[in-house]
Amino acid sequence: MITHTAKSTDAVIIGGGPVGSYAALNLAKLGVKVTVYEEHPEIGLPSHCAGHISIRSLRNIGLYPLPNGIVENTFTAANFYSPFGTKFSLHLSSPVTTTLNRARFDNYIANQAKAAGAEFVLGTHVQSLIKANDFVKGVNIRNGKKEEKVYSNITLDAEGISSRLLRQSGLAALNPKGLVFAVEAEVENVKNVETNAVEVYFGKSFAPGFYGWLIPKLDGTAKVGLATNRGNPHEFLQALMFKHPVASKQLGKAKITKIGYHAITLGGPIEKTYANGFLAVGDCASQVKPSTGGGVIFGLTCAKMASQTVSEALQQVDVSSEFLHIYQKHCADLLSFDFNVMLRLRRFLDSLSDEKLDQILRVCGKLGVDNALRDVDEIDFQGKLMLKVLGKPSMIAAVAYFAMLYLSANP
Ligand SMILES: Cc1cc2nc3c(=O)[nH]c(=O)nc-3n(C[C@H](O)[C@H](O)[C@H](O)COP(=O)(O)OP(=O)(O)OC[C@H]3O[C@@H](n4cnc5c(N)ncnc54)[C@H](O)[C@@H]3O)c2cc1C
Repeated sequence: MITHTAKSTDAVIIGGGPVGSYAALNLAKLGVKVTVYEEHPEIGLPSHCAGHISIRSLRNIGLYPLPNGIVENTFTAANFYSPFGTKFSLHLSSPVTTTLNRARFDNYIANQAKAAGAEFVLGTHVQSLIKANDFVKGVNIRNGKKEEKVYSNITLDAEGISSRLLRQSGLAALNPKGLVFAVEAEVENVKNVETNAVEVYFGKSFAPGFYGWLIPKLDGTAKVGLATNRGNPHEFLQALMFKHPVASKQLGKAKITKIGYHAITLGGPIEKTYANGFLAVGDCASQVKPSTGGGVIFGLTCAKMASQTVSEALQQVDVSSEFLHIYQKHCADLLSFDFNVMLRLRRFLDSLSDEKLDQILRVCGKLGVDNALRDVDEIDFQGKLMLKVLGKPSMIAAVAYFAMLYLSANP
């Protein structure tokens, strides 16, 4: 028999991914009574992310250095390959990116949020939004045979890419044209890789609409993946591992120990991220870099801004969309230039033929782009980075920017 109960809180967060938990952490620190509902029984699992993230950005949001056991590796180099095997390498003067064990990273943020006072309810699915007079008033949750109405002054949607509840709020769903479909595997017995370098494989024949990646760990294993805008990602992964002129030598004898599939949103932020009593954050708002698919840093950055807006709205006793629109303005002020540049770059990259890509990588090598980028330490704000690089007299810098983009390799 199904039991029905009801309770209330200041703020409900849908989803205990990194973005939902980070919003909870910030809200709890601001004194807001917040409850996170996560449908899985454990935070961070199943994990679908490469966890390749900029060290400087993590530091800027107060999450670096991290406790032991979360960082898997750090990188000072990246190797980029055309589908014909042409290689361009970038070597930096200090580690710029790191790979994280995403499950442990997510747990780290959630534990911090709990310590700050946030409540986490796991294994509990948010089925629908409670709506009245055009306001979101909370959520209907289900845990086994128990159904509950949770009334809240404000609801933050951090449900990730499914964006099912986003649609119920009246906001437009993610643009399906901006989606690519990813596969990521953990592999053993990787050959011919440097442990300080990320491998990036371009080309329509191996990863149309995106790219493939190999992120080595220190123990001879690696995370390998790709995303595509057509076809079956698993078949493309097989082609990458066994037919690519370079990857096949690195992965031809590798054993897959774990594999997962998930979509990535590359279409840029959704048009509207707020409604009466409701804000959308993270992947469900498509706060993801269109160039590389990296969503952790921008999602966390927006979660912090959302928390600030929520706290102010609760103090003013005004959760109307007129008040909440300030959240979207803050996000746009910080990120819209970078998003626009990255969207154009994504279109540019998608338009390149395999032959053109091969040519670009050759040119980068000949022009000494590696030297021009040696001291770069920021890869997330790619629009601002481009301005900085183009300020240099040499046109090499312009080319260097494109190579730099590839370095980020945040799938
Ligand atoms: C293959 C792959 C590799 C990636 N690699 C990188 C990378 O290297 N670097 C990077 O920055 N980004 C990467 N990303 C993107 C990154 O994973 C996302 O941007 C990030 O996880 C977004 O966090 P989030 O909290 O918004 O969503 P999610 O991490 O998806 O979390 C959403 C949570 O909400 C829960 N949920 C959903 N619906 C409900 C519901 N109705 N009720 C209760 N709970 C619900 C889900 O179970 C989930 O735990 C990658 C993505 C993929 C697919």
